[in-house]
Amino acid sequence: MPQVIVGMEVADIAAALGPRHPRFRARQIYEAVYRQRVTDLHGVSTLPKPLREAFPVGIPEVEREFDSADGTKRYLLKLADGKTVETVWMPEGDRSTVCISSQVGCPVDCKFCLTALMGLERSLTAGEIVGQVLRVAADRGLEAKVDRLNIVMMGQGEPLLNLGNVIKATRLLTDPQGMAISPRRITLSTSGIIPKIQELAREPVRPKLAISLNASTEDQRRALMPITRKYHLNDLLEACRRYPLRPWEKLSFEYVLLKGVNDTDADARRVVKLLSRLNAKVNLIALNPGPGIPFETPDPARVIAFQAIVRRALPCFIRKPRGLDVYAACGQLKRMELVDIH
Ligand code: SAH
Ligand code: SF4
Repeated sequence: MPQVIVGMEVADIAAALGPRHPRFRARQIYEAVYRQRVTDLHGVSTLPKPLREAFPVGIPEVEREFDSADGTKRYLLKLADGKTVETVWMPEGDRSTVCISSQVGCPVDCKFCLTALMGLERSLTAGEIVGQVLRVAADRGLEAKVDRLNIVMMGQGEPLLNLGNVIKATRLLTDPQGMAISPRRITLSTSGIIPKIQELAREPVRPKLAISLNASTEDQRRALMPITRKYHLNDLLEACRRYPLRPWEKLSFEYVLLKGVNDTDADARRVVKLLSRLNAKVNLIALNPGPGIPFETPDPARVIAFQAIVRRALPCFIRKPRGLDVYAACGQLKRMELVDIH
């Protein structure tokens, strides 16, 4: 595969240019790609012509896009090796959120998630992770300085099983000389890979952390998320208690409500108990259904009753599903070849 710039930090670009070029060229290219967000160096007139031609920027191309009635857009982006990955754009008033993928498919096998049915094809490079944001920004014509953009690493894949690339991507997304997105606006969601949570804690630049809880007991979680057999619920919560939150930060817990499975009042009370010693908030997600998913969505009244119990003890929100009509919502991301709806 040819060397591409997206995913490179200044030092990587300097190394790729080699010693024949002055050092400032690397910074110039870096700023063109990440700060001015050019998708092609040809128009960068301050660069010598041979350099403009030497490297493709390498932002993934849009293979297909699907527009939801609620304004959400699901992109199928094409990677250099021909594989595709999904990225979701969700506008909301004067803010917008981009949901990015960290892997093609996912190896974790949660029983309510469509992505799980793909298995893992491969992890994404840092450039492919950042490239999703740059492609959406280019496609949506976002201003060079976007200060109301939120990034959620909640697309395909388990980000903590690709931690090195996710961290490099986070450095690129947050660099004040480049894309300059505040780490407060980036959230990483994990199924609970305990040793990697501890590794993440040691990173100087890291996204906010969200944990997919999804169950109120160990047995229930084992049935829904087989990863629990390896990483037990109690140990996960202990890792959360030890996690060094920044002063402005709360831990988020996501909880997918499955009708008659984990959505009772007793479940809600157990969730409160599990999280009682944490500086936490809870996001409830009523199941987004999909072909091959053996669960049903609870009635709205059940979701509200669940929220009411949790809310007595800690902040608890109901996540509004986005882009359901184009399979863009949580847990619905799965390649087009498999879910062809158009
Ligand atoms: N792999 C990571 C991030 C991607 S999944 C993780 O599991 O946290 C993002 C969120 O979508 C998770 O909280 C997950 O529990 C939720 N989710 C998965 N399948 C879903 C479905 N069918 N309906 C609603 N939410 C789902
Ligand atoms: Fe992977 Fe997250 Fe889906 Fe589980 S919910 S299979 S960890 S993408």
